[in-house]
Amino acid sequence: MFDVVIVGAGPSGSACAYWLAQAGWSVCLIEKKNFPREKTCGDGLTPRSVHQLAQMGLEPAVAAHGHRYQGLRAFGFGATLEMNWPEHPIFPNYGYTITRFNLDGLVAHQAEGLGATLLNGVEAVALLEPIEAVGAGLRAASGVVAVEKATGTTGEVRGRFLVVGDGQNSRLGRDLGTQRNRSWPMGMALRGYYTSERHDEPWIDSHLDIRDPKGDVVPGYGWIFPLGDGRVNVGVGLLSTGGAWKGVNTTKLQEYFVAQTADAWGLNDESCCGPATGGRLPMGLALGPRCGANTLTIGDAAGTVNPFNGEGIAYGYETGRLAAGVVGEALLTNDPGALCLYDERLDQAYGDYFKVARAFVRIISEPRILTACVGVGMRVEPLMKELLAIMANLMRNDKAGPAEVGYRALVRLADIIPERAYHLLLGDSKAA
Ligand SMILES: Cc1cc2nc3c(=O)[nH]c(=O)nc-3n(C[C@H](O)[C@H](O)[C@H](O)COP(=O)(O)OP(=O)(O)OC[C@H]3O[C@@H](n4cnc5c(N)ncnc54)[C@H](O)[C@@H]3O)c2cc1C
Repeated sequence: MFDVVIVGAGPSGSACAYWLAQAGWSVCLIEKKNFPREKTCGDGLTPRSVHQLAQMGLEPAVAAHGHRYQGLRAFGFGATLEMNWPEHPIFPNYGYTITRFNLDGLVAHQAEGLGATLLNGVEAVALLEPIEAVGAGLRAASGVVAVEKATGTTGEVRGRFLVVGDGQNSRLGRDLGTQRNRSWPMGMALRGYYTSERHDEPWIDSHLDIRDPKGDVVPGYGWIFPLGDGRVNVGVGLLSTGGAWKGVNTTKLQEYFVAQTADAWGLNDESCCGPATGGRLPMGLALGPRCGANTLTIGDAAGTVNPFNGEGIAYGYETGRLAAGVVGEALLTNDPGALCLYDERLDQAYGDYFKVARAFVRIISEPRILTACVGVGMRVEPLMKELLAIMANLMRNDKAGPAEVGYRALVRLADIIPERAYHLLLGDSKAA
């Protein structure tokens, strides 16, 4: 019997295991794949992720395997802007790109080094002795039924608490009772690797307009993230919100985007490293409930991707750590009731921010509004720099600069206009 069983050794599960093991609790971290393993991702770490990795003692390892970059280069409607990450008292003014193949095992093994039991190649297939929730929470469970993939051996892994960080599909999370709020945004993205002479550039590129062969703007955005290892990560994303995006397919979008950037980056059949792969990005805390009598969900399983920029790694580390904090308190005080602090802490950390972000993406999901805003914004560099700080959640509590003032105004606006009103504003009568 472990103190805590954690399902999934992605950013959220491994960070949770790290912080619990560091506090001296017995932890079992269950991962169905064997490290190192591929995970479809843009491979971009913002300053928020770097901060969490540094706190887990991993920045030297990330620097050794990854590529340090200084900021974002935005392209759109004929303009280009190079924007350094802002100075901040907590977060560094740089990020890294690093493949998930190289990154994820680092955190899992760091947790193992502190005493966590890491079960690689073991899949949690069902909840053990599930108990229905009283009220609106998650179901409770005594652990999980797990299968060792190499041998097919089935066994039970028991824990006083169960934390589920099993990613975007979150089968175990759904078994616990999570559901998505379908009127909130969901991201879809696709990425592929290419070799490129420009693999070690100091910027990550974001393209705010993708065009079809006729030159018309199509819904979605594109990125090129240099990996520093001879390759670049090339991908596209779009949001489920807004009728105009329906019927757009990420494979077609990637085709257009690669054609658009092929000459500049040397993207072609020879430089292509293999077929592109995709996934979903559950955002803005769209999945709930997140807390039960002895159960919690974290990371993508709780829908914690930032709707502003599709970033999910930092929020995986952060929610894993928040969950470790409340589970630690529950163990220390022998009071499982402490778990309900988790929702409160998520709300303190992200409540207002995600509300603004959901409103923002809902509005820019409308192509006419996007074109007008980006077309103007790209020509006002100071505005875009402040927007970058807001979109990457790098505002400062100790300062009242334009980003901070602008953000507070947006919070007030999001408070005044209920979510439903955005549907009406955009003429989405079905959702309203
Ligand atoms: C195309 C794309 C590009 C993206 N680009 C970026 C980016 O550049 N930067 C960024 O910050 N975010 C990005 N994201 C989002 C980011 O990948 C996720 O938000 C992040 O990985 C979430 O971490 P997690 O720990 O919650 O889940 P995951 O990283 O998905 O980890 C879940 C783990 O659980 C394991 N697992 C699942 N089920 C079971 C089971 N039953 N038993 C045992 N193990 C199980 C899986 O194998 C996996 O290792 C991108 C996402 C996509 C799809």
